[in-house]
Amino acid sequence: MIIQSTKPSMPNIEEYVEEIKDLWQSKWLTNMGSKHKALESKLIDFLQVQNITLFVNGHLALECIIAALELKGEVITTPFTFASTTHAIVRSGMKPVFCDINPNDYTINVEMIESLISEKTSAILPVHVYGNVCDVKKIEEIAKKHNLKVIYDAAHAFGVEIYGKGIGSFGDASMFSFHATKVFNTIEGGAITYNDSSIAAALSGLKNFGIRNSESVEYVGGNAKMNEFQAAMGICNLRHIDSEREKRKAVVDRYLANLENVDGIRLSNEQDGVRKNYAYFPVVFSEFKMTRDEVFEKLNENNIRARKYFYPPTNSLECYKGLFTVETTPVANYIAKRVLTLPLYADLSLKQVDRICDFIKC
Ligand SMILES: *Cc1c(COP(=O)(O)O)cnc(C)c1O
Repeated sequence: MIIQSTKPSMPNIEEYVEEIKDLWQSKWLTNMGSKHKALESKLIDFLQVQNITLFVNGHLALECIIAALELKGEVITTPFTFASTTHAIVRSGMKPVFCDINPNDYTINVEMIESLISEKTSAILPVHVYGNVCDVKKIEEIAKKHNLKVIYDAAHAFGVEIYGKGIGSFGDASMFSFHATKVFNTIEGGAITYNDSSIAAALSGLKNFGIRNSESVEYVGGNAKMNEFQAAMGICNLRHIDSEREKRKAVVDRYLANLENVDGIRLSNEQDGVRKNYAYFPVVFSEFKMTRDEVFEKLNENNIRARKYFYPPTNSLECYKGLFTVETTPVANYIAKRVLTLPLYADLSLKQVDRICDFIKC
């Protein structure tokens, strides 16, 4: 049997069928129907945010918030992320300026941000990578001082809190992904959360061809609407999110018990005041007896799929060849060459975790 690196959470099929039944009466399948509205209000409560706008996926949500905030010029971000973060900046006609990451939690190194600010900088786009929380306080300070917008890529951070506050309540906006592989899924899906309710009109317009009303098209928008079947999946999955988090925690605790004191292996630091979502279990093979690639291969030969997540860093992706200098982000380069995320999902058994760790250790 193959152990995949992730497995989507799904409700019982009966629960989902029950949830979508009324769509056969209403025939309202998309365009912000009742499921969409219900999911929005449930997520506002769950994520402890002021406002939310749902999207067909996280990536288009990111492109839409960049457009809604009318960002231009340069955006300071990190290369230790999924291609989406960097692509969203480039596809919006801007230049990503890469800041290095911390060696212990892999989030943006806030001490380096100010040295990267130029007169063209319009925003900072940090990533709560693996659900680890960025230094939101310091980032807010820098943004205020230099009059910059802050958009968080919170694709990994669904349900994360810091000192009791929802992670999506920081910065000007945060993007969540509800892709099948994430902690909470709507099959594909995403959202923007934000404090300033005046952003709502632009986001709603941008995800629906810029349409304001039947005779007025206000923005050059695309189509990025979440449909009713996606929203119904979200409503079902949200009912089980607490037990999902508990099961993931048990898996992570078991990994920790197995790997905490192994020579040459580095694990993420605990963060003060953070309620975690146990989205990923990254392991850095720094001075281990095997290289990262050797561990990856050994697991693979034994039908265990770990992920080189993230490798390569986005500033050295093939499509950006010759555009960026990777020398400016040595820590990101170092981690990207040595990190593996181990299989992690709610139904992964503790026995399987032990087996995975045994292959790593001996
Ligand atoms: C998943 C992910 C995205 C993109 O989200 P989609 O919903 O798949 O479009 C963006 N950034 C990061 C860090 C991600 O992991």
